[in-house]
Amino acid sequence: MKKVLFFLLVFISSVFADMKEGRNFTDLPDVDDGYNIHVIYALPSDGIDKEYDLTNQISMLVYQMDKWFNKKTKNRLFEDGQNLKFDRKEDGRIDISFLRMEIDNVSISKKGINAVNMIQTEISRLGFNDEKKVYFVVYGGSNKDVCASSQLPQHAPKSIVANTAALYYPGKGDDSCVENNGGFKPEFNNTTRAALHEVFHVLGAVPKCAPEHLVFGNEGTINDGIGGHLSIPGDIMFSVQSNVTFSKMDNLDMTSKNYYNHSNDCLDLAKSRYVTPTVDDPQLPTYGVQ
Ligand SMILES: [Zn+2]
Repeated sequence: MKKVLFFLLVFISSVFADMKEGRNFTDLPDVDDGYNIHVIYALPSDGIDKEYDLTNQISMLVYQMDKWFNKKTKNRLFEDGQNLKFDRKEDGRIDISFLRMEIDNVSISKKGINAVNMIQTEISRLGFNDEKKVYFVVYGGSNKDVCASSQLPQHAPKSIVANTAALYYPGKGDDSCVENNGGFKPEFNNTTRAALHEVFHVLGAVPKCAPEHLVFGNEGTINDGIGGHLSIPGDIMFSVQSNVTFSKMDNLDMTSKNYYNHSNDCLDLAKSRYVTPTVDDPQLPTYGVQ
């Protein structure tokens, strides 16, 4: 009983410690139609608050992600390109929510590539479960296997919610995801690449019916059987079986055949409800049927 009381007191004091000026614990009222990518800075119960939501670190990452997307979409479906529809405040700044989860770092880390599923369940339980939204979680902790991962709606049955992408920061080995050309910096680097790759997954890329869609074979590695990728080196949705090569991924479906501005009936990021501007009848991520 004493032990329970002790942990309760530790938890309560950490909740008070998290209260800082300028921080939001809820998703603020939307200034758009509600279909947006909502950003959360989430910590495990025992995680150290590095204030990435308050110091513009996450805003800078999101800025770099959107800048790249706009550059890569110029003179394609729209002359001026498109932007990712992040959840913003009235003043145009990113609406970032802070969330202290009730799961400890080790429990999340040991799930590896599947940690995102545990995070999605937890953020949903704690109120981040708006059916219109997809969630991009910057998780301030470690992951034993990967720097980032996401849920793949088209590979999930309709009964399951698959609306979350996660960046583990500092991630693998407690720092390897932020070293080697990564980290929150005013540049396009491997952290930006990993974040974009996972956000595109949760928006439905690469669709199963894309001509060059790749599913990893069963070779005894963490990516076995995972779809949603392309077999084209250099594309942002390219991935190798070992999931280590993020460098030099700098193209967004340049041939317009697979997931951006193509002419077939498959899901198309250019026509997504989560990009702006978009078409009159925009698309939502499609779920797999099982
Ligand atoms: Zn991937």
